[in-house]
Amino acid sequence: MKTFPDSPFSRWPLAAGLVLAGSTIFLAQPSLAQQPVLTPNVQQYVSVAAPIVALTHVRVIDGTGAAPREDQTLILRDGNITEYGAAASVQVPSDAKVLDLTGKTVIPGLVMMHEHLFYPTAPDHYANLAESFTRLYLAGGVTSMRTGGNVSGYGEINIAKDIKQGKKPGPWIDATAPYLQGPGLGITQMYELKDAADAKRMVNFWADAGATSFKAYMNITRAELAAAAQEAHKRGFKITGHLCSVTYREAAAAGIDNLEHGFFVSTDFVADKKPDVCPGQGVGMAALAKVDPNGAAFKNLVADLIAHHVAVTSTLTVFETFTPGQPMPPGLDVLDPILKAQFEKRYAATQGNTRSMYPALFAKDRAMELQFSRAGGLLLAGTDPTGGGGVIPGYSNQRQVELLVGSGFTPEEAIKICTLNGATYMGRANRVGSIAKGKQADLVVIDGNPATNIADIRKVELVFKQGVGYDPAKLIASVKGEVGLF
Ligand SMILES: [Zn+2]
Repeated sequence: MKTFPDSPFSRWPLAAGLVLAGSTIFLAQPSLAQQPVLTPNVQQYVSVAAPIVALTHVRVIDGTGAAPREDQTLILRDGNITEYGAAASVQVPSDAKVLDLTGKTVIPGLVMMHEHLFYPTAPDHYANLAESFTRLYLAGGVTSMRTGGNVSGYGEINIAKDIKQGKKPGPWIDATAPYLQGPGLGITQMYELKDAADAKRMVNFWADAGATSFKAYMNITRAELAAAAQEAHKRGFKITGHLCSVTYREAAAAGIDNLEHGFFVSTDFVADKKPDVCPGQGVGMAALAKVDPNGAAFKNLVADLIAHHVAVTSTLTVFETFTPGQPMPPGLDVLDPILKAQFEKRYAATQGNTRSMYPALFAKDRAMELQFSRAGGLLLAGTDPTGGGGVIPGYSNQRQVELLVGSGFTPEEAIKICTLNGATYMGRANRVGSIAKGKQADLVVIDGNPATNIADIRKVELVFKQGVGYDPAKLIASVKGEVGLF
């Protein structure tokens, strides 16, 4: 069974200005100076660019888990939300561009935590699709994201920088360093660590190069993980992991901040697990199949992770593609036809696998994630566009919210997991992740009401990032049928 590879922050001081039809208009007194000067390359995807924007009569789901508020008005100025309240009580400035959003909903821009800028195109090979993926993420409503592992080295760090500087469209990116992994996986695009000193050297090398986040991966040892965590923390960065050789409990003790893939890849329940050795994915999953999400053993693990402040990332979207009985994932039409056909073939094969362990495990992991969150753990969400393909950026982020609702979370809770929780983890909750006066104007306008019908989250009409409104249709059209090439 093929394994699935698997995402910081920096604050980029941006000039306060807004480009309208080729000319740059500098705005007066930007209190929180967040708007970038956008190049023509970015402007072509912008449909709302005005110094002051009023979103009137809109339903607000604010990202905190609170119930929706009907008939609200928000004033966006200089990239920030400067007024927000009941429509009747908010004064709309006479020079504002007014968008009457009656019947529509705004949610915070999604903050997704296990994203990638590459895609599996051949066995053990990943194509760098940073250009198309960043556009698709933004089109899908993602305004901030962490990548969950990097196979293109400087490419990932550079595009994150270009986006922050307004040179390219896309979400704000917490860019990971190349994977920290041990030998044996056979993925030629990845480095293999030699020892703990090597792990330290690698963390510092990539932190110096501009990476703002770290990802531990398979076959890493406890000593390498502890050394990497220590160095990352010294630099002010966090480290997550998709592990197998190291158990979740051992990783928490080693100082990890986050664990990827829910509980799917936990090897804590493997009998006679050898330290620092991966038991094999099948072995780990067979052990997990026997664990009761409501039993003492699992609850003790959850309590240990919470005591160590370890967040867990749900990536149901990638596991869905392995699970017979799940629907065809959304967004395949953007793929290059060869890649589309490749995935469709694989999807058919998955559906025909009547002995698959995945249906039972998929349900079990969902119950475990719910349990972890209900116990007070910080549950994050991401999509992981790797596996065997078919997880399409943007579309899959919306699908991840839907899947969390299917796990038993309310729509408001699922939206919080995909917005405020990610911002909280990254230490950016004072700026993004929820809708509040004074926060950055990162907003998704939805035609419908996801609180009553979560599938409405797919009807994204407009995505505001730092107060600039991007047109999802234009972003998608710019890559349609060509995702796989760039
Ligand atoms: Zn991943």
